[in-house]
Amino acid sequence: MRARYWFLEWTLPADPRVGLRYVGKCLLCAEFCVDTVSADEAQVWCLKRAGATGHTRYGLSAFQYFTAALTDPAAGGAP
Ligand SMILES: [Zn+2]
Repeated sequence: MRARYWFLEWTLPADPRVGLRYVGKCLLCAEFCVDTVSADEAQVWCLKRAGATGHTRYGLSAFQYFTAALTDPAAGGAP
């Protein structure tokens, strides 16, 4: 039995339906907010958390969703 192998080329385009998402996280207790489209909203969560807990160290992270796709879907079939 003979096998034939080839490489496929993939790309990671950003999901156009979802832009950047932001998450505020307390660096002292690791609590974090639900991700949001607004950096300001995530920072407001940090401020409210500071007021409620007295915790003073926070981080703001941004992330984006991608969808992996073959650059040439026809190349995915048998040669
Ligand atoms: Zn905390």
